[in-house]
Amino acid sequence: MNILNLVRDNIKALKPYTSARDEYQQINGEMVFLDANENPFNNGMNRYPDPKQELLKAELSKIKQVAPENILLGNGSDEALDLILRAFCEPNKDKVITLPPTYGMYQVLANINALEVVEVPLTASFNLQVSKILKISNAKVLFLCSPNNPTGNSFNPLDMERLLRAFQGIVVLDEAYIDFSEQKSWLQRLEEFPNLVITQTFSKAFGLAGIRLGICYASKDIVSILNNIKPPYNINTLTQSAALKRLKNLTEIASEIELIKSERALLTSTLKTIQFISKVYPSQANFLLVKMDDAQMRYKQLVEKGIVVRNRSTQFGCENCLRLTVGTPKENQNLINTLKDLQ
Ligand code: PMP
Repeated sequence: MNILNLVRDNIKALKPYTSARDEYQQINGEMVFLDANENPFNNGMNRYPDPKQELLKAELSKIKQVAPENILLGNGSDEALDLILRAFCEPNKDKVITLPPTYGMYQVLANINALEVVEVPLTASFNLQVSKILKISNAKVLFLCSPNNPTGNSFNPLDMERLLRAFQGIVVLDEAYIDFSEQKSWLQRLEEFPNLVITQTFSKAFGLAGIRLGICYASKDIVSILNNIKPPYNINTLTQSAALKRLKNLTEIASEIELIKSERALLTSTLKTIQFISKVYPSQANFLLVKMDDAQMRYKQLVEKGIVVRNRSTQFGCENCLRLTVGTPKENQNLINTLKDLQ
């Protein structure tokens, strides 16, 4: 498959914005920057950020064993997802596939980009309907989220591989929750699948939702197209430095992940003892999908007690379900105590 054939014609022809600093590295020594109309007085933030995020990509590249040319950074993974649609999908013409129940932004981004959305629901046990997906012709992008939000399960790797080999468009594999999963990331197999785009984020296991940093891994061809259309300075200086600092603390991240996973196990077993809860779905993420007698009523009761959870009961396949994020041990205990007291 030649990926360039999937790119929109106007994007193929695009002359991207360039700044004078794209060229200056060739000259040695202290530089005087009079090119970008910044305020010259140094306060640590008066300069534009590095548009290529070279230090951050070099660090990620070392940690993830992926070349910097295979990495694109976004203002959250939401921005990366939007860039993918803008690169490949013609508004008012192309279609994308989503697999409900899943992350709501795929649908919203498709709507913003005026794309048709074809939904292929997951099975009752939240597995993929591979043959049904492959029957849809001419879809440009398939959104695959594993572990899936809000169901929490990871998909069967053989099903995923079948899709990656046979789907004739871009497969976006959203690995926002991969660090909580027993399944391996597909990152090390990126080169096997030219149509694979993997997104990850600093918002979940890495504990930095506030800095808005998403990562997109793809072939060099795809990354170079996305680079052409991204806003030049989309990752600000504060975000780049906070992310670099966090990446120096991988052991802290790993121990937080372990704690979240053990709390997830504890919450799963305790929630099952609550009389109005009928099902706690097994989770490979940092949240639990929980089925109960009346999710809307329980949601309101929890808010009245000062606990905010996500009501997913209007989503296909999630009738009477709340999605509960795994919190600190104290927060989880508070949740359990509150649920036990509800009438
Ligand atoms: N993908 C999934 C599956 C998510 O659940 C979320 C956030 N809820 C995102 C992407 C967005 O992540 P970010 O904060 O990086 O934009």
